[in-house]
Amino acid sequence: MRLTDYDIDTRYAAKVVSNEGLTDTDAEDEVCEIVLDVADDGISYKVGQIVGVLVPGPHEFGQPWHHRLYSIADVPAVNEHGHSRITIVVRRCDYVDEYSGERFRGVSSNYLCDRRPGDPVTLTGPFGQPFSVPANRSANLFMIGLGTGIAPFRGLVKRIYEHEKNWQGKVRLLYGARSGLELLYMNDRRDDFSKYYDEETFEAIKALSPRPNWADPIAWDYAIEDRVEEIVALLDDPNTYVYVAGVRQIASMLDQLFSSQFGPLAWDKRKQQLVADGRWVELLY
Ligand SMILES: Cc1cc2nc3c(=O)[nH]c(=O)nc-3n(C[C@H](O)[C@H](O)[C@H](O)COP(=O)(O)OP(=O)(O)OC[C@H]3O[C@@H](n4cnc5c(N)ncnc54)[C@H](O)[C@@H]3O)c2cc1C
Repeated sequence: MRLTDYDIDTRYAAKVVSNEGLTDTDAEDEVCEIVLDVADDGISYKVGQIVGVLVPGPHEFGQPWHHRLYSIADVPAVNEHGHSRITIVVRRCDYVDEYSGERFRGVSSNYLCDRRPGDPVTLTGPFGQPFSVPANRSANLFMIGLGTGIAPFRGLVKRIYEHEKNWQGKVRLLYGARSGLELLYMNDRRDDFSKYYDEETFEAIKALSPRPNWADPIAWDYAIEDRVEEIVALLDDPNTYVYVAGVRQIASMLDQLFSSQFGPLAWDKRKQQLVADGRWVELLY
């Protein structure tokens, strides 16, 4: 679905409750966790959904609004006034114009990262629910995220261990980042996933770049080296769901990784089957 296909006419007024940096000051990327209260009754959010943010203009080409999407990064809560409270995780984006070479600031991500408590934000959605908690508690979940792709999985893991309870399936989180400083919710600043390390069914596997200051690719193969058999068994199990989230490059990184394990043709066939069975779901941007 294209961004222009999303409904932006139904809007909700929200207010920033908090805006906290998630990456270390030395990290190359700046990522903010923004908690929002939505002042509207009768709207409920679910873990795994996406919300839109409308940045008021004027913008380039006379557009009155700039619309961008963000994953809900926590189990939605209710505030003291009975209104929805949601969390989003936003990476501050810059981009270089290929023609002029000029560097531009991403409109929505900079707007959001600069918002302070009490500031208003206009929301659209919620849209879709690409990732949901399987009804069967013995289902295995293999979540694979890159950068801000951790956002939907933070909510899912919390839902599984703090709300569903007694989860019996395996929950594996394979998380890639350029450096340890950029591992969101798994760094010195915030280590939210550590509270699930005691859960017998949970394991987080970190994949980093071997040389974070260089443009070296993330060492996915190195990260799963000791676990190849387990991952193959997981993918073979008809009770496993694979959820993938993050910037679009993650899809080709994973194709490369699994092709090297299974062989390119066999991987292509296997992935097609997983997709057809509804057991491989991607959220790419
Ligand atoms: C379904 C969906 C879910 C999304 N969830 C999240 C989320 O949870 N957190 C989040 O930060 N973003 C998320 N995004 C991306 C987000 O919607 C915006 O595209 C992003 O914030 C940049 O918008 P902007 O207005 O700041 O920049 P723009 O003015 O649109 O320009 C941004 C430039 O940065 C590149 N870019 C966009 N996003 C990223 C990124 N995360 N990492 C590296 N480069 C990027 C773009 O290709 C473009 O060149 C999601 C996108 C989709 C489609």
